[in-house]
Amino acid sequence: MKGLMMQKQLLISSLIEHADRHHGDTQIVSRRVEGDIHRYTFRDCHRRARQLASALTRLGVKPSERIGTLAWNGYRHLELYYGVAGMGAIVHTINPRLHEDQVAYIANHAEDQYIFFDLTFLPLIKAIAGRCNGVKAFIAMTDQARMPKDAGIDNLLCYEDLLQQGSAGYAWPVFDEDAASTLCYTSGTTGNPKGVLYSHRSSVLHTYAAALPDALNCSAHDVILPVVPMFHINAWGLPYIACMVGAKLVFPGPALDGASLFELLEAEQVTLSAGVPTVWQGLLGHLEKTGRQFSSMKRSIIGGATCPPSMLHTFEQTYGVAVLHVWGMTELSPIGTVGALKARHLEMSPAERHVVQSKQGRAVFGVDMKIVDADGMELPWDGATSGELLVRGPWVVRDYFRNETNSSPLLEHAGQGWFPTGDVATIDVDGFMQITDRSKDVIKSGGEWIGSIELETIAMGHPAVSQAACIAARHAKWDERPLLIVVRKPQATLTREELLAFYEGKIAKWWTPDDVIFVDTIALGATGKIQKNRLREQFGDHLLVKVAG
Ligand code: AMP
Repeated sequence: MKGLMMQKQLLISSLIEHADRHHGDTQIVSRRVEGDIHRYTFRDCHRRARQLASALTRLGVKPSERIGTLAWNGYRHLELYYGVAGMGAIVHTINPRLHEDQVAYIANHAEDQYIFFDLTFLPLIKAIAGRCNGVKAFIAMTDQARMPKDAGIDNLLCYEDLLQQGSAGYAWPVFDEDAASTLCYTSGTTGNPKGVLYSHRSSVLHTYAAALPDALNCSAHDVILPVVPMFHINAWGLPYIACMVGAKLVFPGPALDGASLFELLEAEQVTLSAGVPTVWQGLLGHLEKTGRQFSSMKRSIIGGATCPPSMLHTFEQTYGVAVLHVWGMTELSPIGTVGALKARHLEMSPAERHVVQSKQGRAVFGVDMKIVDADGMELPWDGATSGELLVRGPWVVRDYFRNETNSSPLLEHAGQGWFPTGDVATIDVDGFMQITDRSKDVIKSGGEWIGSIELETIAMGHPAVSQAACIAARHAKWDERPLLIVVRKPQATLTREELLAFYEGKIAKWWTPDDVIFVDTIALGATGKIQKNRLREQFGDHLLVKVAG
């Protein structure tokens, strides 16, 4: 027998509708690329998102077509989040920090029909326009007065002009909640970037769960500033959460340095912010230098890489800001675990509490997790035994978008599909997960991925290189940086500088390895593969030693 409750579809448009109806005058504040501060309300955002959806419909955009964005955190990007998904098309947020070849690859793989971009990214658009023949037009997210002159792009449109052609009388269509809403490519896998395609249902369920008190704990009292980019997993869902709970939103645009962030946090009386540890390092450095204190910040959500215990301590003890350590992945929409304390932890001393809070946290409702050994046997939750972390849930990826490998990323385990995260972790008796290592070989520098294989392939292309392996070495500022281990060909002379110069122009500059270590041999494992775990054990601290020395 079925229940007798209404079958209302969980759609992203309902979030902005709710925000308009119940929190219509709540503000959205954006630092724009132009440098000034823009201010409007959820009601304004809803009206413009409908205008945008109407304008896109007139342009001929059909449900399920992909619409790319290359943009910072700002109100126009938010309008795209709601306008594009709300009409049934798919918002494809592209990471502008990737090399232009990867951006072109991603836009083509996704078959983007239109690409919206902030003016900052005009050079990138110029570089890829000729290679993205499927894109019908590039739309500069600005007004007519600031449109680039003589940009040399044939099909260039102006965002504000486009919006004027749409009608605010547009009514959101109702469709199947399983329809795709948003596409985000992750480079956190080996090989080409892979597309994770969220649905309306998965996004709305994730929003409910992520807003809960023991998750990100958001309410209408909050002023939220997502430092984490909207091109990286929907800014961890905060643009949706803010609409669900009616929190004021503050967008920092491109100004992510400590001084600019602090100025905005104070000016808008922000209570909650979220970002990767590197960003917080910049902000804390600025506070230390200037001797300033926060007047409104209550909580800082730190994730994407391990939150150093010293950062947790400084936030809490020096600035009175509570830290929430979160773990997640693009493949998890992204929230998996949050380091929210249980009642019994509250009696602990600060030092004991910090040990618990430094872990990646416990699963939010909706995410099942377990750790397994190399044979797939489940391991105990004793806080000491580590194994590969597997997850499943309604906002966990089932397959990658247009997956060309013909094999599902999921592992069949105990009769169920589980997603192997590539993280190695322990889980304690309280269910607090702690990442101890990564089985995947990609490098995470300042919250952004660097593909080790690409760096190795380039090194191997050098005539003097016989073998090359690139590993993630721990780094004081960026968490991890690429370190190249190289065997020279017999009799070949090759210096560190010559090899690093060989990378110029072939990759984004920040991908260049920090150092090269020349060795006589690199040991191979049983399957003939380089054992990167062994290399990490051997050279993982090389860059720390260098800095210290
Ligand atoms: P992404 O899909 O780019 O968000 O990257 C996800 C990966 O980042 C995870 O699989 C982890 O390896 C890493 N990660 C995310 N959050 C944390 C965290 N709090 N601590 C350590 N690593 C993290």
